[in-house]
Amino acid sequence: MAEVFNKKKSLGQNFLTSDKIPIRIAEACGADKTCGVIEIGPGMGILTKQLALRVAKVVAIEIDDELIPILAERFADADNVKVINEDVLKCDISAIIKEEFSGLDVAVCANLPYYITTPIIMALLEGNYGFKSITIMIQKEVAERLCAKAGSPTYGAVTAAVNYYASVKKQFVVGAANFSPKPKVDSAVITITPYEDKPVKPQNEGLFFKVLKAAFATRRKTLVNSLSTAFSTISKGDIQRIVSACHSPTVRGEELSVAELAKISDEINKLIYTTEERQ
Ligand code: SAM
Repeated sequence: MAEVFNKKKSLGQNFLTSDKIPIRIAEACGADKTCGVIEIGPGMGILTKQLALRVAKVVAIEIDDELIPILAERFADADNVKVINEDVLKCDISAIIKEEFSGLDVAVCANLPYYITTPIIMALLEGNYGFKSITIMIQKEVAERLCAKAGSPTYGAVTAAVNYYASVKKQFVVGAANFSPKPKVDSAVITITPYEDKPVKPQNEGLFFKVLKAAFATRRKTLVNSLSTAFSTISKGDIQRIVSACHSPTVRGEELSVAELAKISDEINKLIYTTEERQ
């Protein structure tokens, strides 16, 4: 089948070529017959097949309508596979969970289309869907970024944002030769486990994300300067005082852990709140 289907680069269609990797991904996902799995981008169904053998139900969301008849034929006899022809970013995930997975734990497992990896991960986490786990294959560099520690060169805004919602575990690396067409970069499988109870709880989540964005906006700038630009109504003196109380006054944004970013956001929140009360 792979030979007759014209793969679309614009949809990130680098398909796995042997069953060995999908077996490892399905096993790393850890889902069993007590679980339902949402798969994003089933392609020709190579991972779908391995998931369907292991879990109670698979709902596979595929944007490319040319793949739908191929998937329908391949899973015609599988009563635990449902294919939905939609863009995952436009899907009503809550409705899918409610309608398709009643009484089951729900996990996500996918070889993600790499052109929208971060928007998909953030949508899955921000939606607060109660996923048991999210096991995904992504570009190796992105996997390393998501697993990076604060202050390391690959630690970035997306690392902090993902680590606010979840813990991230590296699973294994998959060489480019395992795909058709062969991508320019290697891939890696990671498991993101959303926290049931987040360890870091900023007083004002919206403000926390504004601080996070500002902290990483300009890499070589000090945090005091980045925050002064983002919060122009707060005096530089107040920002210096807040940063110094949490860290060294010359710290750069990318050196801060999620907990430290939350501490700074709470101090800014307190300052804004007290100033508003005084007015
Ligand atoms: N799971 C297959 C495999 O491992 O061989 C295919 C993985 S391929 C890297 C990514 C798949 O995601 C493609 O089938 C592509 O058509 C699909 N896709 C791309 N963008 C999508 C989107 N926004 N929503 C749902 N599926 C999408």
